[in-house]
Amino acid sequence: MKILLVAEHHQGQLRPATRHAVTAARQLGEQIDAVIAGADLSAVAAELATLAGINRVLQLDTAAQISPEQLAPALVNLAADYDVILAAAGTLSRDVLPRVAALLDVNMLPDLIRIESADTFVRPTYAGNVQARVQSLDARRVLSIRAPAFAATGTQAAAPIETRSFAADASQPHSSWLAEVQPHSDRPELTNARVVVSGGRALGSAEGFDTLLHPLASKLNAAIGASRAAVDEGFAPNEAQVGQTGVVVAPELYIAIGISGAVQHLAGMKDSGIVVAINSDPDAPIFQHADYSLVGDLFSVVPELTARL
Ligand SMILES: Cc1cc2nc3c(=O)[nH]c(=O)nc-3n(C[C@H](O)[C@H](O)[C@H](O)COP(=O)(O)OP(=O)(O)OC[C@H]3O[C@@H](n4cnc5c(N)ncnc54)[C@H](O)[C@@H]3O)c2cc1C
Repeated sequence: MKILLVAEHHQGQLRPATRHAVTAARQLGEQIDAVIAGADLSAVAAELATLAGINRVLQLDTAAQISPEQLAPALVNLAADYDVILAAAGTLSRDVLPRVAALLDVNMLPDLIRIESADTFVRPTYAGNVQARVQSLDARRVLSIRAPAFAATGTQAAAPIETRSFAADASQPHSSWLAEVQPHSDRPELTNARVVVSGGRALGSAEGFDTLLHPLASKLNAAIGASRAAVDEGFAPNEAQVGQTGVVVAPELYIAIGISGAVQHLAGMKDSGIVVAINSDPDAPIFQHADYSLVGDLFSVVPELTARL
C-alpha cells in the first residue's frame, strides 16, 4: 500500500502533528512519501526527511503562499501513484482534503482515532459520544487522523528529497491570500501543550483570564484554553476555544476552571491524561470526567493554588 502523507508547516516549522500522522501512515503500509508545499521550505523538508518511516519527501516549491484551492489539484495530480492520501486533522487538512476527495470522487474519512485494517477505521461522532467503525469501499482513500490518538514517530537517517517547482494556478477565483495575523504568545501552542489551563464563563471577563488564569498557566508552562461561552463573551480569543467547534486537545494535564462540562466542551478535551476541575457547583457535569474535583469559588481557589505552586 502506497501512502502520500501531506505534511503541515507554519512559520518555517514542521507542525508536530505531522510526526503523529507518520505513525498512523506506518500502520497502513511501509511505502510512505511525504509532500510539503510552500515557499522557502528547504529546512522544513530536511526535517521531514528525518521522520522515521518516510521513504521520500516531495517538496513542491511555490513562489508564495499557496491556497487550499491551488494545493488540492496538485495533490490530485500526485494521487494517481498512491492508495492513501493522509494528513493530521487540522486547519490545513480540513480545508484541503475534502477538496482532494471531491476531485477524486471518493469519500473523505476525517478525524480517525484508530486504524483497524487497510479499509476499516474508528472515528468519533456525535461530539465524541459515539465511536463509529467505518469501512471504506473506495479504491483510493483520503484520511485525516487525530494527532493525540497516535504517538509521534521517531527519527531516521534522512530520506531523499525531490524538489519540484510548482506553478500554482493563479486563476482560482474563490479566495486570495491577504495576510496572516498571528497573535504573539510565549506560551506553548494549545494543541501541543503538555498542560492546558482552560477557563469558562465564570471567569466573568477578559481581566479574569489575565489576572487568574495567566499566572497559573505561567507557573505550569501551560497553554490557555477556553469554553465557547468564554470565547463568545469576548473573554478569550477564538483560537483558544476547546471543543466540538474549537480545537481538540489531549494534554497530560487539563485544568478546567469555571467550566460546566457541556458535551461539546468534553468533545475537545476528554482524552486528556489527568483532568482537574474547579467549580462552585458540586453537581457540575465536568466533575464526572475529572480525576481531581475541587468544589469552590474560583476567585479564591485559583490564586491560592497559584501561590502554592
Ligand atoms: C453546536 C454547538 C457547538 C458547541 N461547541 C462548543 C465548543 O466547541 N466548546 C465549548 O466549550 N462549548 C461549545 N458549545 C457550547 C456548550 O454547549 C456550552 O454552552 C459551553 O461549553 C458552556 O461554557 P461554560 O462551561 O464556560 O459556561 P456555563 O455552562 O455557563 O458554565 C459555567 C460554570 O461555571 C461555574 N461557576 C460559576 N461561578 C463560579 C465560581 N465563582 N467559581 C467556580 N465555578 C463557578 C458554574 O457552576 C458552571 O458550571 C457548543 C454548543 C453547540 C450547540
